[in-house]
Amino acid sequence: MTHPLTARVQAEIARREADLIALTRDLIRIPTLNPPGRNYRQICDYLAARLEGAGFTCTLLRAQGAPGDSDAHPRWNLIARREGARPGDCVHFNGHHDVVEVGHGWTRDPFGAQIEAGRIYGRGACDMKGGIAASIIAAEAFLALCPDFAGAVEISATADEESGGFGGVAWLAERGWFAPERVQHVLIPEPLHKDRICLGHRGVWWAEVETRGRIAHGSMPFLGDSAIRHMGAVLAEIERSLYPLLAGKRTAMPVIPEGARQSTLNINSIHGGEPEPEPGYTGLPAPCVADRCRIILDRRFLIEEEVGEVKAEVTALLERVKAARPSFEYEVRDLFEVQPSMTDREAPVVQATAHAIASVLGAEAAYVVSPGTYDQKHIDRIGRLKNCIAYGPGVLDIAHQPDEWIGIEDMKDSAAVMALVLADLLG
Ligand SMILES: [Zn+2]
Repeated sequence: MTHPLTARVQAEIARREADLIALTRDLIRIPTLNPPGRNYRQICDYLAARLEGAGFTCTLLRAQGAPGDSDAHPRWNLIARREGARPGDCVHFNGHHDVVEVGHGWTRDPFGAQIEAGRIYGRGACDMKGGIAASIIAAEAFLALCPDFAGAVEISATADEESGGFGGVAWLAERGWFAPERVQHVLIPEPLHKDRICLGHRGVWWAEVETRGRIAHGSMPFLGDSAIRHMGAVLAEIERSLYPLLAGKRTAMPVIPEGARQSTLNINSIHGGEPEPEPGYTGLPAPCVADRCRIILDRRFLIEEEVGEVKAEVTALLERVKAARPSFEYEVRDLFEVQPSMTDREAPVVQATAHAIASVLGAEAAYVVSPGTYDQKHIDRIGRLKNCIAYGPGVLDIAHQPDEWIGIEDMKDSAAVMALVLADLLG
């Protein structure tokens, strides 16, 4: 059944269309590029001024000492909270304010926020300034409709999601800002599309594998031991045994796109032997047997897998190579790991969002899981809050691309959904 406030919410959002567009454009015009982390204070100040005007209490927090934080590029975060008329739950919208580099291939000004045929263009338009703007308009529409609501509404704008979130949500979660005592429901308006609920993401393990040999003159390679040949054997074994093994590991997680519904492995980089010459160097290389070769593995794993078993697969593979190559030596270094996260479909924020999508769009919500991680990992693992989803306007494929855009109608529809979620959980 349709939520009884649907028509009134839609009318409130429609009334705010010009405001929604202006807000989105203002956010795009603040180039919060990460790296290195530009204009974080400026965008937090802008949003704080806006939200204070809507009755929110704003706290600006610098993630002092977090990776990337410096006086030149401080990691600023904003938490805005509006208390209701009586006790109740807190619904929190979390958006990252950083955007990735511009890159090549743009036909529009990446920070011009040009409007064309119902779309607003710019770096960060869909990932995720359009989502931040939609959640703010949703909150303001809800406050106008339900001034005596229970509980609290929170909106945060956080740093560094694009580089792991350590100066943003992770830093805040470590300090209790996402603890279940103070926040009960979290929506992250990432561009998953207005009819989809993203329940979580796969896990990640990044590792560096180094093979070792012995340097010698390249004209007498038999006097050395080539780390590159050892790595060749490792890569052959990965092709022979590991890729087929991973292809057989299917998940019940509804990951999109479909190809990511299994364990995957990307070999992110390979470096061996002498370093690449400096640009402009015109000489020849020196003849040497390579004594070191390194690859970076980017392994994405499933909720059905344990990270320990994921690591053990690689160690077992390296031991097989070692058994066939007497002089083979290797080292594995852990770089980064994230546990998979998946919120239960019965969780209150999922149920409320599904009901709101059905009311606004007249269609059943689709449940998805992201192939890559986002800030939900910190809310889940550090904040210990399981009632969290990503839901927001925009088309994921357009994120990080040239001529990135956000659709105005999409923003309006998802703002109506978010306002109904507030009405459902706090009304
Ligand atoms: Zn994003």
